Amino acid sequence: MKPKTKLQKLVDELRVKLPVITEKQRRWAVEHCFEHTGYLCKKTVWCTECGHTWQPPEGHLILVLTEVICPHCGTKLKVSSSRKKKESINEYYTVITTCRGFQVLRHYVARKFCRVGYPTTYEVNEAIQNWISPEGKEVLVYRSTKMSFFYIDLWDWSSPMEIRSPSHNRQKYDIFAKFIYPGRRYIPNIARNGFKGYFHGITPLTIFTLLLSNSKAETLLKAKQYDMLRFLGQRGAVSCWPSIRICLRNGYIIKDASMWTDYINMLSTLGLDILNARYVCPTNLREAHDRVEKKVRVLQAKKRLEEQRREAAEYEKKYQELKAKFFDIEFSDNLIKVSVLRSVQDFLAEGAIMHHCVYSAKYFLKDDSLILSARVGNERIETIEISLKEMEIVQSRGVCNKNTEYHDRIIALVKKNMNQIRRKLTA
Ligand SMILES: [Zn+2]
Repeated sequence: MKPKTKLQKLVDELRVKLPVITEKQRRWAVEHCFEHTGYLCKKTVWCTECGHTWQPPEGHLILVLTEVICPHCGTKLKVSSSRKKKESINEYYTVITTCRGFQVLRHYVARKFCRVGYPTTYEVNEAIQNWISPEGKEVLVYRSTKMSFFYIDLWDWSSPMEIRSPSHNRQKYDIFAKFIYPGRRYIPNIARNGFKGYFHGITPLTIFTLLLSNSKAETLLKAKQYDMLRFLGQRGAVSCWPSIRICLRNGYIIKDASMWTDYINMLSTLGLDILNARYVCPTNLREAHDRVEKKVRVLQAKKRLEEQRREAAEYEKKYQELKAKFFDIEFSDNLIKVSVLRSVQDFLAEGAIMHHCVYSAKYFLKDDSLILSARVGNERIETIEISLKEMEIVQSRGVCNKNTEYHDRIIALVKKNMNQIRRKLTA
C-alpha cells in the first residue's frame, strides 16, 4: 500500500535506512531459539544439528533422562523418542530498537530445518516491523501472507516489506515472540513512563503504544497493576477508573481485572458505594464476586417478575372476557382438587412454580384452551389443558413438564367431570 498519512510517509522514508540484521543478532537467534535435539528411533539417535546417526551404548531411559553428546559434532543433545526423518521449526524472534525518535519492533521468523544425514540449516527472515511514534501511534510494515484456513502467518517471503493497513486480526502483527534479542533500545519516553524491561504478559507493541498514548497505562504500570494494564490493552479503555483509584490509594492489587470489573459493575447495579474501599478492595475477590452475583440474580428475577406482573395485569380483562364463565368449576376426589385458573396472575404463579410455559406461552389468550390446576392441599401437582372444541384433555403436566404419580388419577378425575365444563359451554 502507498503511504498516505504524514506519519506513514515519514516511516516509509526511515524504514529503508534500518540496517539489515547483524551477524551477531542472527547468531543469537540460531543459538537460542531452538533446542538441540537428538531423536531416538529404536536404538539409533539422530543428531538434528549435524545429521549424524549412531547407536549409543546407553539404554533408552538413561538417554531420555540425561543429555547425550553427539560423537560427530560434539553438541549436547536433549533426547526424545521420535520416528521423524526431517523436521522444520519456526520461531518468532524480536529485535527491539529505535530509529529517529520511533520505537521499532522488528519481528523475524527463525527457521530450523533438519534432515537425517544432512547438517541443519537456519534461516532468519524479517516478517514485520512495528513503528511506534513518540505519541504512541503505530505504523505497520509487513509482508503479505499466503491464504490458509489454519494459519494467519504463512508469510510470503517473496512479497515486499511495505506499509500495510492493520489486518482485522491484530495477532498477525502484534507479535509476542518467545525470544527477544538481549541488546534492546528504547526511546526515552518509554522508560520515563515506567517501563523497566518486563512485559507482564502484554505484547511489546501493545504495552509501548499504551504507555505512550494513555496516561492511565503509566499509572497502572507504576502501581504494579499489571493485570489491569493487560486488560486496558485488550479493551482499549477501562470503565470504573474512580474505583481503580481507590485500589491504588489502598495499595490493593487487582489480580483478575476482568472479574474485578464485573464485580464493580454488579456493585453499581446493586446501588452499592463503588468508591468505598470496603467493597472495592475485597480480600477474596472470587467470594465477593460470587456473593454479589447471587444478589444481582435475585434482583433481576424480582424485576422480571414485576415486569411480568405488570404485563399480566394488562391481559387480565381479556382473560375474564374469555373464560369467566368457567371460574366456578372445581371438583375433587377427596385428595386431589382440580380448579380452573381464575386470573392471569394465577397463570404467572403456576408457570413460575411448575417451571413450565403455561404463562410465557400465553395460554390465557387461547380461545380453545381451558387451563386447570390439580392440587393436593396447597401444593400444585399438575397443570391440565382442555380443548373446549374437542372436550378432551390435551395435556396434563407436573413440574418441569414431567408426569407425577397422580397423573392417571388426575386424568380420570377430569374425564369424570368433563360434563361440568360442557354444561358451561352450552349455558
Ligand atoms: Zn551432531
